[in-house]
Amino acid sequence: MSIDQSSMSRRAFVRGIAGTAALSALPTQSVTRYTQKASITAAQMRAGGVAAKIVTMPVRNNVRALMGSGGNIVVLPGPDGKILVDTGLATSRTQITKALAAISPEPLRHVIDTHWHFDHTDGNEWMHEIGATIIAQEKVRERMSSRQTIPAFDAVLSPSPAAALPTILFRQTHKVALNGEVIHLRRLTPAHTDTDIAVFFTNANVLHTGDTFFNGYYPFIDYNSGGSIVGLLAASKESLSRADENTVVVPGHGDLGTHKDLVEFDEMIVSIHEKVKELKKSGRSLDEVIAEKPTSKFDAKWGGGFISPSFVTELVFVGA
Ligand SMILES: [Zn+2]
Ligand SMILES: [Zn+2]
Repeated sequence: MSIDQSSMSRRAFVRGIAGTAALSALPTQSVTRYTQKASITAAQMRAGGVAAKIVTMPVRNNVRALMGSGGNIVVLPGPDGKILVDTGLATSRTQITKALAAISPEPLRHVIDTHWHFDHTDGNEWMHEIGATIIAQEKVRERMSSRQTIPAFDAVLSPSPAAALPTILFRQTHKVALNGEVIHLRRLTPAHTDTDIAVFFTNANVLHTGDTFFNGYYPFIDYNSGGSIVGLLAASKESLSRADENTVVVPGHGDLGTHKDLVEFDEMIVSIHEKVKELKKSGRSLDEVIAEKPTSKFDAKWGGGFISPSFVTELVFVGA
């Protein structure tokens, strides 16, 4: 490197530092706020974890699902040690430990996070401390390392402790081969968040969609975590093309599902998006769009979860 280039890069370096200082003096990044909220807060969810009853469901082959603490957890036991998809709420550690021990005696060796949200990663810290590696899309680590806000659930989350952070990071795809299974991890278009992945067990034909699919409930789009309705529509198509008629679909929340459930979910969000987009384009306000009830024919099936019919209308409206 010549002297000139070196002094140039030093000047750029100094400018960079000055620029950083100026930026940090600005208010914190803008937060998308909604007029409505989910039917549960993050604090209520965490508190509920203490007494949560964990139900272990057979999925296929050796794959099990643990349901009842935060998002649905998938477990694959075997000679290479257990591998988990998502880690539930930290407040349910006792029950999760018991449920894992009831499956088999092997220790927990690996964890995969479907995305950064606390109801899927809250158990990372204790699982890491007992010896598990934590695999995630690289932005999971980035988001968990800094303060995050989820206004819809009244959540302001401090940076996670180092032990809770993912240890193996990937950008687009990653493959895990153990316990006789080949697990494909694939980043989805930013949808529910910008950290979403799909986890596919190729031999068992089991797909964990993370929170890009709630089985029987309206979806949540976390705009403050880089989520988008357009991305959610794309993620839905990706899940549909990954699954076949025999796939067991593990949603982020809700009961185990099938390809048919993915088809119905896709029809629902496509229809709501089209209606809301059209109304917004014609100049209607959010309140006017909600008053039109663009979700009405879907409410009986999908409206009973964290996200009400009017709130899903708003979430779609924000990005339509
Ligand atoms: Zn969740
Ligand atoms: Zn989530």
